[in-house]
Amino acid sequence: MAGEPQDDCLFCKIVAGHIPATVVRETETTVAFRDINPQAPTHILVIPKVHYRDAAALAAGAPEIAADVLRETQAVADEEKLDSYRVVFNTGTGAGQTVWHAHGHVLGGRGLEWPPG
Ligand code: C5P
Repeated sequence: MAGEPQDDCLFCKIVAGHIPATVVRETETTVAFRDINPQAPTHILVIPKVHYRDAAALAAGAPEIAADVLRETQAVADEEKLDSYRVVFNTGTGAGQTVWHAHGHVLGGRGLEWPPG
């Protein structure tokens, strides 16, 4: 069920501490950790502790937690001293989503091209 931890979800396992991650921030509702395959000098994922399959489902099912995730992307950027950065929510296979637990990528520390690939 949406919002409930899923046994087969990698990011639910990170939230539960069953899979290691380099956590940089944690709040009551969110966790932020370094991406294991960084695409920029700073590449941090911000996830809700509750399970929703993507950002759209999170925004529909738990809008206050979606707002927490957005606030945390800003907090991460501040901590990393990024004056320019990009927040990406890949949503759907065609957009490159590979983990089906909502997450925002915070990317920075280098010039970022637009439009993205
Ligand atoms: O947007 P997408 O679903 O592709 O992003 C998933 C991200 O999760 C990838 O950037 C991948 O490197 C990252 N990841 C991670 N730690 C894991 C598994 C995946 O940081 N244990």
